[in-house]
Amino acid sequence: MTNHSLHATDNAAPKIAIIGGGLTGLLTATLLERAFNTDRNQKKSGNLNITIFEKSRSVGRLATRYHSDSQTAGSNQQNWQWAFGAQFFTAKTPSFQQFISPWLKTGLLQPWHASVVTITPAAEEAQLPHVQYKDQWGDEQPRYISTPKMTSWGRALADELTRTSIQFQTRVAPLAQYVQNPIDEKTELFDETGDSLGQFDWVICTAPNGQAAELMADSGFARQADILKPNMLACYTLMLGWDNEQPLPETLRSQKILNWDVAYVNDSPLDRLFIEHQKPAYDTLLPSITIHARNDWSEAHVDEDIETVKAELSRAAQQLLKWNTDSAPSQIDCHRWRYAATKVNTQNKGRDEAIGILVDQSHRWIVSGDWCGQGNIESCFQMAQETVEAITKVME
Ligand SMILES: Cc1cc2nc3c(=O)[nH]c(=O)nc-3n(C[C@H](O)[C@H](O)[C@H](O)COP(=O)(O)OP(=O)(O)OC[C@H]3O[C@@H](n4cnc5c(N)ncnc54)[C@H](O)[C@@H]3O)c2cc1C
Repeated sequence: MTNHSLHATDNAAPKIAIIGGGLTGLLTATLLERAFNTDRNQKKSGNLNITIFEKSRSVGRLATRYHSDSQTAGSNQQNWQWAFGAQFFTAKTPSFQQFISPWLKTGLLQPWHASVVTITPAAEEAQLPHVQYKDQWGDEQPRYISTPKMTSWGRALADELTRTSIQFQTRVAPLAQYVQNPIDEKTELFDETGDSLGQFDWVICTAPNGQAAELMADSGFARQADILKPNMLACYTLMLGWDNEQPLPETLRSQKILNWDVAYVNDSPLDRLFIEHQKPAYDTLLPSITIHARNDWSEAHVDEDIETVKAELSRAAQQLLKWNTDSAPSQIDCHRWRYAATKVNTQNKGRDEAIGILVDQSHRWIVSGDWCGQGNIESCFQMAQETVEAITKVME
C-alpha cells in the first residue's frame, strides 16, 4: 500500500471529482456509489462524496433534439424528434446486460428490431435509388434505444444518484492553469474564471480526448503521451422533418412497403439514415429522419461554415431521397460533432486494441471516456468498471 492511499482515504470514502456529465461520467458515479455501498464498504459510504462538473446544460453525446409543430396544440401537440448523437447501443458483456436489465423491465430501454438496408443513389435523375435488404436486428445481439428520448436514460441515471451532485454549466479549467498539483496531495480544481471548485482525493476526467489532453497538459499527468493515441473523428448530423399533411418523397413512401428502418448509404457523403418515427415507442412523432454523414467526409469539412455544410448535405439527401418542391422536408437542421467516433491507432499494434483508462496513481488522477475503449456506449460502462476497480484497488 502506498503512502498516498492512506492519506487519500483516512479510512473514509474519498471525495471524488468527475469532469464530464456524459454517460462515462454518469456510469462511473453510479458504479462508485454501488461499490461503496457493499457491506465491506458500508462505513465508508457515509462519507462518499462525488461531484460531476459538466460544462454544458445536459448529458454529453447522448443527444435528442425536438421541435414542436406550430399547427398543433394542447394534448394534440405533435413533435419532430431526432436522436442526433448515439442512435442505439449494444450490451455484449454479461455485466452490462445485467446492469441495464432494470430499465428493460420498466420499458425505458427497449430493443430495436430494425430492418436494415443499403441504399445506392440512382445514377439517372428520373430513377429511384437502389435499395437492398441487409439485415434484421434480432435478439442474438440486440440493439437498444432509450425511450421516449435517447436522453431519457441519462436523466434516469442522474436521478438515481444519491451521493453525487451534478454542477451543470461549469467548465473545469486545465489542471495546470491556476496551481501546480503536487504528488500525494489533494487536487484543487478551478473553473475557467479562477473560482475554486473544491479539493478532491481523486479526479476523473471523462472529456473527449482532444479536450482531455488540454485539461491535463503541463500538469505532470504521468500518462499524458497516451491521451492522443486514439484518433477521434468528426461527424455531421442532418435532421429532416415532414409535416403531417405533406406528401413524403416517393422513396420514403415506398420505404413503408419495403419496411426498412435503418439504411447504410453507398457512394455519398451520407453514411447512415435512421427513421425515428418507426422506433418502438416513438410512433407518435411527426415524420423525422436522422442522417449521419461519413466520418471521413466530416473530417475533411470540419472547419467549414455550418450553413455551407448543411446545404451540401441537404443536396446529397435530396439526391438520395428524391424530394421535389411539394415533398421537400419542412424541417432541416444540421449539427457538427467534432469528436464523434473513435479510431484506434493500429499502426504499431497490428490490431484494433483499446488503450483502457489512464491512471496516474501518485496524483490520483484518472483519464477515461468512451475513446479509451471502442468509442461507444458499451465502452463507457467498461471504462466506468475499470475506474472503480482502479480506485478500490488503491484504497485496499
Ligand atoms: C454522431 C454520433 C453517433 C453515435 N452513434 C453511436 C451508436 O450508434 N452507438 C453507440 O454505442 N455509441 C454511439 N456514439 C458514441 C456515444 O455517443 C459515445 O460513446 C458516448 O456518448 C460517450 O460518452 P462519454 O461520457 O465518454 O463522452 P461525452 O458524451 O462526450 O461526455 C463528456 C462530457 O465532458 C464534458 N466536458 C468536456 N470538457 C469539460 C470541462 N473542461 N469541464 C466540464 N465538462 C467538460 C462535455 O461537455 C461532455 O458532456 C455516437 C456518437 C456520435 C457523436
